[in-house]
Amino acid sequence: AKAPDRTPTAAAKLPYQNASLPVSKRVADLLGRMTLDEKIGQMTQAERGAVDADPSKIGTLGSLLSGGGSVPTPNTPTAWADMVDRYQKAAMTSRLKIPLLYGVDSVHGHSNVLGATVFPHNIAIGATRDPSLARRTAEVTAQETRATGPQWAFAPCVCVARDDRWGRTYESYGESPDLVTKMETSIDGLQGAPGELDDPNHVLATVKHFAGDGLTTYGTGSNDKTTGTYPIDQGIAQVDQKTFDKLALQPYVAAVKKHHAGSVMPSYSDVDWTEDGLGNRINAHANKALITGWLKGKMKYDGLLISDYNGIDHIKPESYTFDQQVVAGVNAGIDMFMQPWNYDQFEASLKTAVTTGKVKPGRIDDAVTRILTKKFELGLFEHPYTNRTHLGEVGSKQHRALAREVVGKTQVLLKNKPGALPLKANQKTYVAGSNADSMTNQAGGWTLSWQGGDGPIPGTTILDGIKSNTKSVTYSADASAPIPKGSVGVVVVGETPYAEGFGDVGGPQWTGADGKLRPSQTMQLNAKDKAAIDKVCAATSTCVVLVVSGRPVIIPQTQLKKIDSVVAAWQPGTEGAGVADPLFGHTGYSGRLPVSWPKTLNQEPINVGDRFYDPAFAYGWGLTTRAH
Ligand code: BGC
Repeated sequence: AKAPDRTPTAAAKLPYQNASLPVSKRVADLLGRMTLDEKIGQMTQAERGAVDADPSKIGTLGSLLSGGGSVPTPNTPTAWADMVDRYQKAAMTSRLKIPLLYGVDSVHGHSNVLGATVFPHNIAIGATRDPSLARRTAEVTAQETRATGPQWAFAPCVCVARDDRWGRTYESYGESPDLVTKMETSIDGLQGAPGELDDPNHVLATVKHFAGDGLTTYGTGSNDKTTGTYPIDQGIAQVDQKTFDKLALQPYVAAVKKHHAGSVMPSYSDVDWTEDGLGNRINAHANKALITGWLKGKMKYDGLLISDYNGIDHIKPESYTFDQQVVAGVNAGIDMFMQPWNYDQFEASLKTAVTTGKVKPGRIDDAVTRILTKKFELGLFEHPYTNRTHLGEVGSKQHRALAREVVGKTQVLLKNKPGALPLKANQKTYVAGSNADSMTNQAGGWTLSWQGGDGPIPGTTILDGIKSNTKSVTYSADASAPIPKGSVGVVVVGETPYAEGFGDVGGPQWTGADGKLRPSQTMQLNAKDKAAIDKVCAATSTCVVLVVSGRPVIIPQTQLKKIDSVVAAWQPGTEGAGVADPLFGHTGYSGRLPVSWPKTLNQEPINVGDRFYDPAFAYGWGLTTRAH
């Protein structure tokens, strides 16, 4: 008998291209067709700016990212979609036509795009105690992200922040693992229900940084004498196993079991596995017990592990070569490697590791299976290019209205002289402080660029919000303008933007070994804001201080006594008008502190273990008012 003709025709689909087959079958079929080089390519993520020089590389990579907001020019929603599609087109010319995953840090809205809706950071969302708000903000974030191309968000951070000196405190929903776990509905908002990833409204979520990033001991970071950037960030979590399980792992149990987070990012930090805290440090990127043993093993996690930006550089001992770090990271169980600029060095190194037997082929297949599974679930093989249906909704009226509602609900009224708040409309109002009219400061870090941006971000400032409530406003940032008699005073103080490290509230600076001025680690208000508070509170009948910051700031007790009302306004994002809503009684104050608010810096770390502490305002504190 004649053998059947097995020559593939152009029209015939290979099994992995057949959308009617189950994802696991498609993955197995595709994996079986891949060369070692192609598999290693899938495990590699490069910075999009790095591949521009060599577009022929694009099709051989698994993923691209715009790290820290590396943006197209012009930075518009359409330019984003065009950019992502251009890279995707290059990927679709590869031998097997495997689409790219494109990842961004949409950590409080798709704040990489000028014109996007920028929400308050997680700490503020934690203050609402409202999981449905966490989900709704994430839905908008997902829609705005996917409409502009990226299908993957490196969010949410499910860290439990225990030391406010940490510059990532605002990325945390709070200091309580129960609160963090409760707010993980954001994962559902990003991804939709299981099976909805291929919808143009959803993106793959990433829970980070696994695990214990918020538990590091002050002083255990790299403590660089030049930049001083990391006294606590990227340090060592020196806690016993029981504490680690509760504070570091609990949020991941829910994230993977209940919310099915599609990816997990290991932490730059180390874990001290000795109960006496003697410094047996293992970096999270090499922690096989945690990644393969606990997460993939005990938790049966089937999503993908994406390393942090150059994360394997943090693998110890210091004497390790890059090649040894690659082997340690892959064998620990990381599936894709964010090696933004030296992706080709990573690929070569991994190939040698496989050919010399240091990494087993089975480990490579496990990694590639996880990556391809997500690409199939996202529907990328059927629809590799951006579905632009919702492109016009980036920064839409409805999205901004939600953001404004959220901002109002995040406000925490820390102190209120009876009757002082809400303010009445149309009173003579004197507004001062560095953050009353600063879109940059109220948007905070991870906006337009890594450390925050000062582009023409559309939205309303807090001053705009106040002005829409009262006609008679005098604004003087440093309170140098004369204060009219019979005026109420609103002083909007706080931080400038920052990301990672330890951040800055503008307190006394210090000089690094390179002679450059570096931000303080004091969590103090800057001198101008302190002076503005003193001046305005001495000259007004009612004096309100709004603190715009990513974490508590220290307000000396002597100064606090002179202030009638204090509000933790967090960094509201683009909708500053939302701060004015409860301030003028259109809505009530309902937020509650997601972290304890210390009296003095030496109370940090606050609320760790059973140490006695007596904060200025305790965890959960928040006065309420009614709308009038
Ligand atoms: C941060 C991550 C982030 C990544 C990509 C790193 O520096 O630690 O949270 O997702 O950069 O921008």
